[in-house]
Amino acid sequence: MNGRQILVVEDDAAIAVPLSRALEAAGYEVTLASTGTAALDLAVDAVAPDLVLLDLGLPDVDGVEVARGLREALPQSVIVILTARSAEVDVVLGLDAGADDYVTKPFGLAELMARLRAHLRRGVADERAAPMTVGTLVVDMSARRCQVGGTEVALRPRELDLLAELVRRAGEAVSRDDLMTNVWDAHWYGSTKTLDMHVSALRRKLAAAGGDPTRITTLRGFGYRYELEPGTDRPAAGAGLATGDR
Ligand code: CA
Repeated sequence: MNGRQILVVEDDAAIAVPLSRALEAAGYEVTLASTGTAALDLAVDAVAPDLVLLDLGLPDVDGVEVARGLREALPQSVIVILTARSAEVDVVLGLDAGADDYVTKPFGLAELMARLRAHLRRGVADERAAPMTVGTLVVDMSARRCQVGGTEVALRPRELDLLAELVRRAGEAVSRDDLMTNVWDAHWYGSTKTLDMHVSALRRKLAAAGGDPTRITTLRGFGYRYELEPGTDRPAAGAGLATGDR
């Protein structure tokens, strides 16, 4: 037992059963839901899982709706979508609905397990990290919080990881490859739409909190850069989050 809980939402027993067995053999505690309704009920009633593996093709509720509902009920859980290779539109909708990552079917168990381990390992290294400040932005990975000018910004787990990676290297160009490797632990041979969608969401949420979305510069054909405040040098370590508005 490694104590990590995984909720598997999959109606196809030919996938769900071997997948659950493999996860249990790796020490995870697995809960299985074969419908969207069952998954949403579990999300409300049961202990929050560390990670959800969500098949988008469910018999009762549209998988994207399930993703949205799970994201609302489980703000801290990692959600990984399982989807058919052909269903590109579903991937975009699923990520937009709050999923953190996706794996296309058919998938290799070894690859899937590596991806899950990477998602679940994240956070351990962050626990003792000092808060990072650039201008009015504060990213505190030990508390897994982000504020702009003292206003809390509610970010999804992978959005916060991405922002932290950019801010940690503020003023530097960070390649797409580095971001995919360091934030998703994935070498992306095909599309990197996950990354672009997370950057869009970050800009939108920072702007909504009164931040400057243009701080995240797109470097065409390379990656992204988080811009330093004019006249500053490195992100200052040690400055804390504003208090009092938890
Ligand atoms: Ca299915």
